Amino acid sequence: MKTTAITNCGCFFAITRIIRNFAYHFTTHTMNIKETRNARLGATMVKNLERRHFEAHYCPTRQEAIELINTLIADGSSVTWGGSMTIRDMGLLDSLRRRPSLMLLDREGLTDREEIEALYREAFACDVFLTSANAISEDGVLVNIDGNGNRVAAITWGPRRVIHVIGMNKVAQDVKAALKRARSTAAPTNATRFDIKTPCQTDGACHNCNSPQCICNYIHLLRNSNGANRHVVVLVGEELGY
Ligand code: SF4
Repeated sequence: MKTTAITNCGCFFAITRIIRNFAYHFTTHTMNIKETRNARLGATMVKNLERRHFEAHYCPTRQEAIELINTLIADGSSVTWGGSMTIRDMGLLDSLRRRPSLMLLDREGLTDREEIEALYREAFACDVFLTSANAISEDGVLVNIDGNGNRVAAITWGPRRVIHVIGMNKVAQDVKAALKRARSTAAPTNATRFDIKTPCQTDGACHNCNSPQCICNYIHLLRNSNGANRHVVVLVGEELGY
């Protein structure tokens, strides 16, 4: 009886070990496939973006992206950013806050509407504006939607350089798919995040609303970079933002 129990116990541990090894190898294999796919598509997209006169980079990880972006921002620069889960959650803002030579226009902690709007206006005179995108097509068109318009306004004109940091999860096959992603994934998620009373906040789907709270008042396509590399796109081979 005792021998059987020991044998059963040995079998149990052996099977557990096999399952664990299988799960580990399966997960690692899947991750490698995803990384390889992202790197290949990222390389193609860099070429497509360069044809549109963007400065473009592909970074496999957020850490590499943070290091690269810090080299793109010279000491003494004034820097600000649009509302973005990507640039906050990847740790980019924290890394900039550790550089005392930078002049950061940081709206974190501001609640007064007038102060926030004053900062939006100051953003136009900044050296560097950081943002993500709601989606990007494989051929290099960036799609953004905006409720206030301050983010898409600063992308369009003002700051000397705009650095767009975009996780590969935001890549869509073409512009139509990118617009669909922005409207049906990014906007409802943002409405939920800020508890904005829009129809998409209640059921997660876009209703093409004309609500006073609508966060899709401006739909912006950036298809070509004007000026000498004013726009820099940094693609990151990780899931960032939504
Ligand atoms: S329901 Fe309105 S706010 Fe929500 S995604 Fe659609 S247009 Fe935008």
